[in-house]
This record gives sequence, structure tokens and C-alpha cells, in this order.
Amino acid sequence: MQYYPPTIVRAIRNLSKLPGIGEKTAERLVLHLLRAPVEEVGGLASSIMELKEKTRLCAMCYSMSDQERCRVCADPGRDPALLCVVEQPADMVAIEKSGGFNGLYHILQGALAPMDGIGPADLRIRELLERVGAGVVREVVLATATNVEGESTAAYLAEQLNRFPIKVTRIASGVPMGGDLKYVDQVTIKRAMEQRHDI
Ligand SMILES: [Zn+2]
Repeated sequence: MQYYPPTIVRAIRNLSKLPGIGEKTAERLVLHLLRAPVEEVGGLASSIMELKEKTRLCAMCYSMSDQERCRVCADPGRDPALLCVVEQPADMVAIEKSGGFNGLYHILQGALAPMDGIGPADLRIRELLERVGAGVVREVVLATATNVEGESTAAYLAEQLNRFPIKVTRIASGVPMGGDLKYVDQVTIKRAMEQRHDI
């Protein structure tokens, strides 16, 4: 590293802060960028900036979007009576990839974790109850993770949703215990969705 000029050292250090990128990979990327045409490097830099400038939360489901409503919420072909609750946008992406769900989503932005000081007010639970309270939703599918936090979040939500005349279901245990949805294969997610049960 000390053999490189400070500009290169800085770029290597910054890139190696990214997940999964060690110093060696960062060095290889930097050397690649140095050789690449200026338009390519400019395109990469501006798309990274655009990510931060244009990406926001969908006003309906709190997933990531570059519009006021995300692609799923804006799709008239989706069933608005069916609402799937997940922890993170990546979980929604995993379910979308499985192709096993045609309703809408609600992204909590995390799970209840009292030990880490994350309570109901830190998640989009009030917004969920307001959405369900509007009267269109007939079934809420709780698709939080199957680890301790995900299970206790699902139990808490089931209790909160009790006051509404709707069906509340939990994805089947095809998702392995401790399973984070985004690492589970698509067939398993699809099956877990099909075999969801009352809670
Ligand atoms: Zn949305």
C-alpha cells in the first residue's frame, strides 16, 4: 500500500469498507478503474450518488423506491386485500423473486429486539395498523424471519391485528429456523407462502 500515491491509497481504503471487499479486492478494483475509460468511471460514480439522492421509502409500503409509490404498490394487477408483512426491503425482493405472492407488502424496517432497544415505536407498526384499519385488507401474512426477534414480532403483530375482522396468517415453517428470508431459496419461500397458516 505504501508504494501507491495517497489518492490510490484513499480509494483502496474507501472501497475496502464495503461488505465483502477486502484490501486485495479493493486494490484490484482501483487498478481496474484507473485503466477504465473516464465515462465508465463517471457513470459508476454518478449512479452511486443517484442511489443516495433519489432512493426513498415508498409512501405506502416503506420499501425502497425512486417514485412516491414503488413498482409493486403502483401495479393495478396486485391484490390489495392481501398484505404481506416483512422486516426489510430485501425480504420483499426475495418473496417477489419466488413469484408466489400477488398481494401488496408492508416493510416494518426491522424486528422487535428489546435487548437492542428496538420497540414497536421504532418499526412501521402504527402505519401497518392504519393501513389495515382502512378496511381494504382481508388477510395479513406475517413473513418476518423465523428467528427469535422475527417470531416475537409476528406474535406481537398477531395480537395487535386481533381487533380487525381479518385473517392473520404466518408463513409456513418451510423457512428454516433462524432463517433470514433473503438467504432462503425461492422454491422454499414459495412453498412457505402457499402453506401459510392461521395464527
Ligand atoms: Zn410500495
